[in-house]
Amino acid sequence: MKQNALQAKDNFVRFNPEKFEFSENGRYIRFKEGVLSYEEFCRISNEYGERVEMLGHGIKLSGLRLDTFRRSPKCVKCGAVGTRFHLELGSVNDMSPHFNLYGRDAEGKELMFTKDHILPKSKGGRDSLENMQTMCTVCNCEKGNKIEGEE
Ligand SMILES: [Zn+2]
Repeated sequence: MKQNALQAKDNFVRFNPEKFEFSENGRYIRFKEGVLSYEEFCRISNEYGERVEMLGHGIKLSGLRLDTFRRSPKCVKCGAVGTRFHLELGSVNDMSPHFNLYGRDAEGKELMFTKDHILPKSKGGRDSLENMQTMCTVCNCEKGNKIEGEE
């Protein structure tokens, strides 16, 4: 399944090089024309609500992850700031296009952002906006490992 999805991704990019490219981390297919600054994204979602038609796809502008980013684009741990949204195709098993938030670290390397549970789900933390904070994937990964190590 995983292999098939990766194969599908490869083909997608190979056959549409004018429309798609890989994200810098190589994990996602990115629509070349599907980039919005953080401010543009907030303005469009305020104006059009939860969903828009973009590049031939129905795209979600709202949801727990995106709402967390809209509240703050800044990693609570290292202070890196998400500055633009890229419309991308899926994690490995999900080929539906969605927006991901990116910024750059101090060395200029592309940094992806994610939502983080303030109180972890394993400790009873809820899937609600109040329990979410923005974190870059590097800090989120470190936090994840640390919590696992402590328990
Ligand atoms: Zn961070």
